[in-house]
Amino acid sequence: MTHSFFGGVYPATRKEMTRRKPLARLSVTPKEIIIPLVMCADGPATPMVGPGDSVLVGQPIARRGQTGAAAFASVSGRVAAIEDRPHPWGRRSPAIVIHNDDRSEHYEGRPAPLDPRQLTLEQLVERVEWAGIVGMGGGAFPTWEKIARSAGRVDTLIVNVAECEPYVTADYRLLLERSEHILRGAQAIARCLRCERVAVVTEGDKLNAVEAVERRLRRSGNGRVQIIPVRTCYPLGAEKQIIQTVTGREVPPGGTAIDAACAVFNVATVFAIQDALFQGRPLTHRAVTITGGAVTRPRNLWVPIGTPLRHLLETCGGLKEEADLILTGGPMMGVPLPNLEAPVMKDTNSLVCLTEWEHKPDVPGGVCIRCGKCVGACPMHLAPTIIRRALEDQDLEKLSKFHLEDCNACGCCSFICPAQIPLVETVAQAANLLKRGGSAS
Ligand code: SF4
Ligand code: SF4
Repeated sequence: MTHSFFGGVYPATRKEMTRRKPLARLSVTPKEIIIPLVMCADGPATPMVGPGDSVLVGQPIARRGQTGAAAFASVSGRVAAIEDRPHPWGRRSPAIVIHNDDRSEHYEGRPAPLDPRQLTLEQLVERVEWAGIVGMGGGAFPTWEKIARSAGRVDTLIVNVAECEPYVTADYRLLLERSEHILRGAQAIARCLRCERVAVVTEGDKLNAVEAVERRLRRSGNGRVQIIPVRTCYPLGAEKQIIQTVTGREVPPGGTAIDAACAVFNVATVFAIQDALFQGRPLTHRAVTITGGAVTRPRNLWVPIGTPLRHLLETCGGLKEEADLILTGGPMMGVPLPNLEAPVMKDTNSLVCLTEWEHKPDVPGGVCIRCGKCVGACPMHLAPTIIRRALEDQDLEKLSKFHLEDCNACGCCSFICPAQIPLVETVAQAANLLKRGGSAS
């Protein structure tokens, strides 16, 4: 049995462009790979190589110091520079630039595969940290810390394949094509965390993926694991909403998944974890969807981390018409890109190039008609229209009562607003104003 959550919207999914496209390797690998030192939400890693050094696929090139996640070469070649390069999260930041020698020679110093039957929590945490695994669904938080914090405090492990962002199908293809690995990884994590239940959650229209997982579960006879198809509603894939859907539990305001006795891992993260545990492979590649009405041949690709986004687009035949908006991460919560010079990061699941007719621009000066739709759509029970008015009045006292910190920037309010008012930005501005105590507007 599943539960529903408050609010949400139903954008056109537009997944038909890539849902039948299997994950393909690049036929031509990029000449240059860019590995940003910041690939983890808690800060930069420390480089272990310098210009002129030779590197092999899977060789460590940056380590976690006080902050950051370990990074590994995703191609073999030579380090050309450590210099500032465009970063997909905005601005430029230091990156290790590798010139690819096209030999794909692999590093021999990988750790031995671990035995799933003997795996301990300490081994799991240590291996995930070694492999540099961060949340690959967009959060980029250190996964080893999440595992360590969750141990003994959660009863349900949720493998998030909801992928409710329109256009994106990389997670779905990964589940469909690598379900055996994903189930093995989920079971290993669940055992170490002492979870009673493992829920693999996907949208109900992904029937072939559901059947693939069900077949494997029948064969393995593991009753602790369930595949749960859920009716598509954005933002089903957000942590609080997926927990409520699976367990009926609400994460308290300001709380985390652990407060609802759940641990939620994106499916790509689970795949990377099992790869590190049972193959001794660090995180060097990931699945990325390249799509949108402006792309000549939309595809799903299995790509080296650090591949310039421009190379991915070229692999898909480039643009067939002008793109009005290019983003990573999907049209609801994605990050608009000024150009394609930034590379694929550990948490990059897509490159979406939208034509003018696909992209509904916000109207900053739009007039509110007080329809209340934004209030009904907000899954966090906020009232964007009232927040907007309080912001216009610079009324800090009112704003302080609105629980602005609960906004997860899901974009439902902006999406539903008939006046096309950029409500997500408005709520973020209000939260900033409150944080600064009203200084400067
Ligand atoms: S106010 Fe925040 S949480 Fe609510 S719909 Fe808008 S973006 Fe989502
Ligand atoms: S959805 Fe837009 S027009 Fe309707 S109440 Fe909210 S801000 Fe106003």
